Amino acid sequence: MAVRPILIFPDRHLSQPARTVQYFGPKLDTLIQDLMDTLRSTPGVGLAAPQIGVMERVSVIDFSRMKKKLKPAPCQDVRVLINPILLSGSGIQVPREGCLSIPDLLANVRRYEEVRVRIQDQMGAELILTASGFEALALQHEMDHLDGKLFIDRVLNLKTDVFRRKT
Ligand SMILES: [Zn+2]
Repeated sequence: MAVRPILIFPDRHLSQPARTVQYFGPKLDTLIQDLMDTLRSTPGVGLAAPQIGVMERVSVIDFSRMKKKLKPAPCQDVRVLINPILLSGSGIQVPREGCLSIPDLLANVRRYEEVRVRIQDQMGAELILTASGFEALALQHEMDHLDGKLFIDRVLNLKTDVFRRKT
């Protein structure tokens, strides 16, 4: 159990793709616990392993922290994503997005409205998630981290779509 420091843009870990998790066991369990402990110490919704400097394809999302529920939440409250893969996406939403690694900025970003994602659980079993609205956004944001992408990489117009967060 440990709260780890969250890396801030432009730390190099945030722009590198993470490795596929191949070993399911105590080391992975410790990483997941650290991600959860660290996420709980922040006001954030999700946290990816590269944000604490661990280059493995693992993210955690706490759906109970959603500010607005666009549709009934199909997902359980805390979801661990291991080796997530986007199977399909449809529709478009343009939410205003933030990130614990870019604390000063928010931006309008184009995302799928609905997604189907294949993940593995802590034991390595595969399962399929379907999500829409904010849940779909959170999944896409966390999967991006594992590919070394941040929300500002997806902004179409830096002049009109990026905002300073009010403190
Ligand atoms: Zn983020």
